[in-house]
Amino acid sequence: MDNRLRKKLDRLAKNYCANRIEDKCLLTGRKCIFSELHGSPTCVYMQEAVLPAHEVLAKEYYRTYGVKTDNDVKSCERCGTPFVKRNNAHKYCSDCAAARKRDSTRESVRKVRTCKKIDA
Ligand SMILES: [Zn+2]
Repeated sequence: MDNRLRKKLDRLAKNYCANRIEDKCLLTGRKCIFSELHGSPTCVYMQEAVLPAHEVLAKEYYRTYGVKTDNDVKSCERCGTPFVKRNNAHKYCSDCAAARKRDSTRESVRKVRTCKKIDA
């Protein structure tokens, strides 16, 4: 992940996106996906209305992330945050994926410990 480019894009969104107030997006009511830490940032509004005015950054953006469409953006099944899907099985945003992984690890450890108690 290119953090230098991400910081530039985040600064661009912060300074020039009409829909952004602090870290929130007025279109989605959630955190701006341009500042998301994992996955490639995409936002049709940014691509259509903000990036074209910043030619150098737009070129760098498309070179790095390719052209994304609405079809590449999916809402998280847990919290509804929009994210860029990697494939059709990708269901959760990065925060919820981490939380789900923690929960499933906790559950499997609990099962192992429960079985050990019964065995002893
Ligand atoms: Zn989520």
